[in-house]
Amino acid sequence: DVSAPHHGRSLLSDEEVDTHLYGLAGPRVDLTDRTFVDHFEDRVREVPDAVAAVHGQVRWTYRELDGRANRVAHALLDAGVRTEDVVAVVMDRTLDWIAAALGVFKAGGVYLPVRPDFPADRVAAQFSRSECAFVLTEPGSATLARKAGELTGRAPTVLSVPEIQASGVSDAAPRVPIAPGQAAYIYFTSGSTGAPKGAMCEHAGMLNHLHMKLDDMEMTNGTAEVVTQTASQCFDISLWQFAAPLMVGGSVRVVDTDALLDVAGFLDEIVTGGVTVVQIVPSYLEVLLTHLEQHPRPLGALRTVSVTGEALKYELVQRWFALYPEIKLVNAYGATEVSDDTMHEVLDRVPDRDFVTVGRSLRNVNTYVLDQDLALVPLGSPGEIAFSGVCVGRGYINDEERTREAFVPDPFRDGTRMYRTGDFGRWLPEGRIEYLGRRDEQVKIRGFRIEIGEIENKLLALTRVREAAVVIDGTGDGQRNLVAFFSGGDGGAGPDAEPTTERARDFLAGLLPEYMVPTYFHRLDRLPLTENGKVDKKALIRLAGTL
Ligand code: ADP
Repeated sequence: DVSAPHHGRSLLSDEEVDTHLYGLAGPRVDLTDRTFVDHFEDRVREVPDAVAAVHGQVRWTYRELDGRANRVAHALLDAGVRTEDVVAVVMDRTLDWIAAALGVFKAGGVYLPVRPDFPADRVAAQFSRSECAFVLTEPGSATLARKAGELTGRAPTVLSVPEIQASGVSDAAPRVPIAPGQAAYIYFTSGSTGAPKGAMCEHAGMLNHLHMKLDDMEMTNGTAEVVTQTASQCFDISLWQFAAPLMVGGSVRVVDTDALLDVAGFLDEIVTGGVTVVQIVPSYLEVLLTHLEQHPRPLGALRTVSVTGEALKYELVQRWFALYPEIKLVNAYGATEVSDDTMHEVLDRVPDRDFVTVGRSLRNVNTYVLDQDLALVPLGSPGEIAFSGVCVGRGYINDEERTREAFVPDPFRDGTRMYRTGDFGRWLPEGRIEYLGRRDEQVKIRGFRIEIGEIENKLLALTRVREAAVVIDGTGDGQRNLVAFFSGGDGGAGPDAEPTTERARDFLAGLLPEYMVPTYFHRLDRLPLTENGKVDKKALIRLAGTL
């Protein structure tokens, strides 16, 4: 059934090509007539009294969560929501927020999460772009929703979730049919490259991703599975953090953003809450490790830590397995445009090679590495990573131009669309991909093509370097320079305690060709992060211009 495109010289067996490049590994799942909502409602029938969601002292069973989601769905339907109408949820991360999201799905609407601490003009831009006519709020966010609505000139219908819950509306399932090809949600990108884009994905892609999360995180223990919900509601990983446990009868534990800053308290919650699966960004893994190295402790039922969003450094993996050889690390790679992650690297020990790959394709995902003409590069050569298959979302809502740039016809499969990630990578033996950085970070300096990710990885290998990022400084004298930023040091004495800029430069000069050694090195206490916890390269570029 798969006509594998030809890559020229092959590093992989035919079987490896099928299972890894074309995502035929993993469980077969029915994506043709079921959605996440069906799976959740099955669990409600099977384990109505099991705990579904916990937030601080609040604890809801499946029956309670479902009843609340149903009320939201009925209220939306009564307000006139029809299939694929966009419904913004402007709420803090509480259990009511999860019920609201489920209610939007159950009503057949498209879930659009909005943070109540966003400025009104940004919220208005999202409402306008998505033509959102319905908004769910809570007391703390109603004013923002109204103000943003006014700014759009077409005030949306604003519904208060606490009022819906206190009203006499039915808590029985509304039973609106939901087609797998129907749009499920929109996440606006943070806008690190231009104005924010609203990436819209479908139920089938969402379900495929959820199944692969359950599979690769080995979430087979039903009600004993506990997943922390730590990500911002505007980051797509927040979706699987609550939806995956609800697929298996387990529970989601919402952890407040402030609580994450108290590392010891968060670890207490993992242990006392019986948490089995956690997903965080690499910068937070670093924070956890630094704490745990000083205060080692058992982590209870924790079985898998997944890291996502940006490159996972080898050094963090070494440090993790030195402390917890029995707790797996999963490096999850993907993009909002392709229903979140499309590749997983499941590690149960330090890998043999001295870097971490982004692993293998999820089932039903076709993974290509392409040249600029969208032809396959020989296996093992660097190129742009692209995906096709059920994961590929609809595109950017009401933004045909930018959708057309990134979502193109799959040159190898008629009638299928392909998403160009803008990331560079290369195939390794056994069907894994090595991530090589972003396309917009690929530069030519004096005719040499440079992969920024490669320089960063090398810099991270220097003892005590904690974070590293390299940017291109295009301003100044009109010449393009590589500028390296890093943090690290343990404040101790001895020659290795502090990685100075001189040591960083000498170290890279010993490992890289001269044209890849940055012109400037700057050491910072911490690298700036975006609201999703990734290194904020735009801020570093600005900083480079001032130093
Ligand atoms: P997600 O929500 O899946 O993290 P985003 O849309 O926020 O996706 O960002 C996607 C981009 O983040 C990718 O194109 C890639 O550049 C980067 N990224 C995501 N995961 C990883 C990873 N595990 N390793 C390296 N880069 C990653």
